[in-house]
Amino acid sequence: MPSLAELGHGEGDRPSVHDVRRDGRAVVPAGPTASMYTCGITPYDATHLGHAFTYLAFDTLTRVWLDAGLEVRTAMNSTDVDDPLLERAARDGVDWRELAEAQQQLFREDMAALRVLPPDSWVAVTERIEPIAEAVQRMLETGDAYTLPAGDAPGVDVLFDASRPRQFRMGAGSRTSEAEMLELTREFGGDPDRPGKRSPLDPLLWRAERPGEPAWDSPLGRGRPGWHVECTVIAMAELGAPFTVAAGGRDLRFPHQEMQGHHALALGADLFSDVRLSAGLVAFEGEKMSKSRGNLVLVSRLREQGARPAAIRLALLDHHWRSDWEWMPGELEAAEARLDRWLEWAAIPADDPSRDDSVVPWLRVTLQDDLNTPAALQAVDAFALRAPADEGSLAAIDALLGIDLRAVERR
Ligand SMILES: [Zn+2]
Repeated sequence: MPSLAELGHGEGDRPSVHDVRRDGRAVVPAGPTASMYTCGITPYDATHLGHAFTYLAFDTLTRVWLDAGLEVRTAMNSTDVDDPLLERAARDGVDWRELAEAQQQLFREDMAALRVLPPDSWVAVTERIEPIAEAVQRMLETGDAYTLPAGDAPGVDVLFDASRPRQFRMGAGSRTSEAEMLELTREFGGDPDRPGKRSPLDPLLWRAERPGEPAWDSPLGRGRPGWHVECTVIAMAELGAPFTVAAGGRDLRFPHQEMQGHHALALGADLFSDVRLSAGLVAFEGEKMSKSRGNLVLVSRLREQGARPAAIRLALLDHHWRSDWEWMPGELEAAEARLDRWLEWAAIPADDPSRDDSVVPWLRVTLQDDLNTPAALQAVDAFALRAPADEGSLAAIDALLGIDLRAVERR
């Protein structure tokens, strides 16, 4: 874990991030600890630049927290059983478990290459079927959930009652209107027209076994968990509730993150997370980069083609974490060129160790204000033009930006 503790400047400086739920106001962790749950991947077609951008955004937040002297705890899931994964496995004629394992391995390798700090807990859903089923059972007992006949199989599906009045209005956490909620429910496979639903928005908590699909024994009958409740249960088990930040890509804001918040209330929490953060989406060739559209730029492909992971990292950090943007040809080459300039600078160390000039305060000022990574990169550019490379600056670029100029290869 990189640390700037030896420099000592960061203690007490509190990083802020801007939260959509609070009209974009800056939010600062209150206590000595900070915790974050990040929604992980569904392991197929890993890891495209949209994924990498999301995980880098929250990696930056983790690094800034650590630099500020906070005690940090992070957790992430892997949705290693879900419809899109099963569909892909069926299409390619492979076992879904093998597909999930291979893609999780690739994701781990990509994240390690990009120097994204691994979460303290990385939990696959298939490891937590029992506690998830117990949570769903509790929601049935409290009346927060209800059953519907599976229809095409024996057994019952369990649905969450989204219309039940709770502490927060549905949609408030994601700033989503009624019409948008309905549209997004449809887009994410929430089946709003299913007969018998109390509200069209009601998501699945437990899916009864269907022929040919994986299923586990539970008091609810054989089946498998719904998508949102898995994250709720894993986050609450690993971090407690409320934890500091619920993080994910902006396309997860509704229904996924919103439903997690409501599931947590139904499970007795007063609040799921203090803050909900959504990283911007990356487009390519005019459309959001997504598995369903097939317009993916994969980190592993770029690496195979010879891109240095540090350059991929710089290319992504050159966009603000909350903005939507489009990957353009030429961005990678620009980042490679920037990396070369930084390496040339780092190769000539400062000869006077008593100098107190350093890029450290500039990195802290830019990153502590809503994680402004593009400004942080520009600060390094400017500093490299006017001062030699001192140890403190190199350590800070490593710890805060995740670029170790003492280790990266020159082209
Ligand atoms: Zn999630």
